[in-house]
Amino acid sequence: MAKTTCPSCQSNFNLEGKLEIGTITKCSECKESLVIIWLFPLTMDFQQQNTFIRKQPKIKLNSKLH
Ligand SMILES: [Zn+2]
Repeated sequence: MAKTTCPSCQSNFNLEGKLEIGTITKCSECKESLVIIWLFPLTMDFQQQNTFIRKQPKIKLNSKLH
């Protein structure tokens, strides 16, 4: 368990379970989708703005339409 600060509402909350860069979670206060971008110190950012962390690009969806 580790404490971190929500970048959206600035509230402190605890993260439980596996903590890795790229892990997606939700703020318990504002329900914002957040992603872990750094571990020491534990830092969260908005999931939507961290496109480079996503490992599944959506580009492949278009190729199946042809
Ligand atoms: Zn929040």
